[in-house]
Amino acid sequence: MEQPKQVDILLRGGTVLTMDAARQVFDPGAVAVRGGEIVAVGPQAEIDAAYEAGTIIDCAGHVVMPGLVNTHTHLPMSLLRGLADDLRLDVWLYGYILPVEREFVTPEFSFLGTLLSCAEMLCGGITCFADMYYHEEEVAWAAVQAGMRGVCGETVMKLPTPDAGSFEESLRYCEEFLSHWQDHELIIAAPAPHSVYMCTPELLEGTTALARRFNVPQLIHISETAAEVEDWLTQTSLRPVRWLEELGLFQTRVVAAHCVHVNAEEIQLLAKYRVGVAHNPTSNLKLASGIAPVAEMLARGVRVGVGTDGAASNNDLDLFEEMRLAALLPKAITQSPVAVPAVEAVAMATTYGAQALHLGHLIGTLEPGKRADLITVCADTLHSLPHFQTTGHNVYSRLAYTAHAGDVRDVLVNGRIVVRNRELLSVDVEAVLEQAKTLAQRINRFFVEREGSVLDKLVDIGGLEQQETFEVQVKGVLQDKAAFERGLAHDQVHITQHTTRDQYDTYMIFDDPEQGRLRYREDHVIQEDGSVQPIYFLTLTGPAKEAEYENSVILSRSRYTAPADRSLRFYREYFQPVAEKEIVKHRERYHLRYKGVDFAVNLDRILQPAQDRLFVEIKSRTWSQQDALRKARLIGELLTILGAQPGDVLKQEYVDLFEET
Ligand SMILES: [Zn+2]
Repeated sequence: MEQPKQVDILLRGGTVLTMDAARQVFDPGAVAVRGGEIVAVGPQAEIDAAYEAGTIIDCAGHVVMPGLVNTHTHLPMSLLRGLADDLRLDVWLYGYILPVEREFVTPEFSFLGTLLSCAEMLCGGITCFADMYYHEEEVAWAAVQAGMRGVCGETVMKLPTPDAGSFEESLRYCEEFLSHWQDHELIIAAPAPHSVYMCTPELLEGTTALARRFNVPQLIHISETAAEVEDWLTQTSLRPVRWLEELGLFQTRVVAAHCVHVNAEEIQLLAKYRVGVAHNPTSNLKLASGIAPVAEMLARGVRVGVGTDGAASNNDLDLFEEMRLAALLPKAITQSPVAVPAVEAVAMATTYGAQALHLGHLIGTLEPGKRADLITVCADTLHSLPHFQTTGHNVYSRLAYTAHAGDVRDVLVNGRIVVRNRELLSVDVEAVLEQAKTLAQRINRFFVEREGSVLDKLVDIGGLEQQETFEVQVKGVLQDKAAFERGLAHDQVHITQHTTRDQYDTYMIFDDPEQGRLRYREDHVIQEDGSVQPIYFLTLTGPAKEAEYENSVILSRSRYTAPADRSLRFYREYFQPVAEKEIVKHRERYHLRYKGVDFAVNLDRILQPAQDRLFVEIKSRTWSQQDALRKARLIGELLTILGAQPGDVLKQEYVDLFEET
């Protein structure tokens, strides 16, 4: 009889799930590990006879299986877990996540958040991840410290990010990052262009060139929401997958997160180009993005893995939960209980996940020659017993439908034992949690202060000119339009510009009047040929007038103005006003000079709530008390010239003048 060969670790007893192509199960089985590699897998008696090891892990009562592969996540975001929930994707992203990231995301943040996430993932049986975040160099270092395998994607987008002021800068960072981590045994450094809508063609060409040069995959979000697809169709007349195909992105190895809204043609393309798809059921449900057509993708040969997405949109990193949803949701949407059976769901969390990350040659199954990434899962639990062996699928059912992350007992990554008897050996969890709690207090203070200020919230979503300007203004009822027109022809009045507009204003009103009022204006400038050029902007006006002069001219602190590049719905959900009022008016606007001073004069007909009177409004910018006094006097003169009677002067804004009808 041959002498037993020496290996480092033997996992013996238990049900060994190989997840190989034949889906072999050995029960009782054993796995022999030498260095970072699996050297043998088979029936326990066979492996016992052939191998000896210094470390023997008794796996009786456990399932021994490949480590789970989390195909899409944003690891440092575990530090933002539970920060802003139950919001629409755009409000969540632009209103909360991007502002807090701008403020708090540093290299230390990425390192700490990754350690926290790796601790959670390892304890839950995840041995490999694909991440997209900032300061990805730190993510990689933290993962190595935790002893995890990962594809670390440095996020590249057209907007400034916490680690780059421009996309050129972020491509440079990416290039350096990729060159530092070539041929690492645990880490694959990759470029991660965020999505079609956050990128430009040049940017995607840049990441594609890097992926080719370093021979690494690219990570990207694709077709997460229906709105993304519709916008892209409008802008480019192509759906995102087709557009990316034309751009040449799929000439590299791509991992596409979400693919919730892909049609049959796109699914064919994903299969054709071997694009790995990361299905994130919890995140898609929570953000109400939809349910990806997983059964159809699998049937067409697309490599679909499961992912948790970031902890800010999940909110945990539990791949057992994702596996379960990956099996359950297709049944509901296809109305077929045979769609995505348990064994397919387990494959998505292991071997398909590995293939989706283009790592199928290294991990995802228990086979000789593969890296030793494996876990043991307790099968003798209250929620798992009793066991049946009526079909070969019972063990997969237990994993997909009853197992919890907390059932994981041991975890090996690359042959290193990182979790033993539920104890994480590679990360000082207490210290990491302490630091996370301290950071959470700082983030808390930031949000408490911001939520108390409409202005701070406005500043946070960008584009705002935070300039305080002062304006003298008056408004009057116009009794006689002919008198107004005669006034415009007055020899001291020189019109420099005239425009015609329809203005649709929505005023958002807040509980605390000191917050001021926010106006969303759709300004339809009517061109000479009758066509309309709409402009959208937001204006925050302060609560009180600063002073009042003769003729009821008031000095008001105006206005913080920002272009409104999002929908009214977005602002409504983000600012959460207690009330809204709408004013629609037709405005003839004149810029004129009177006695050497520039004024804006508006002749307004209020259409909603409909008024039968015309109004005239005169305004001028000012910068000092002296100047304001002088302009107040001139405005008084102009009012008379333009035919408004002194008794017809109004002190209120339109929004305060009319009760809603
Ligand atoms: Zn994501």
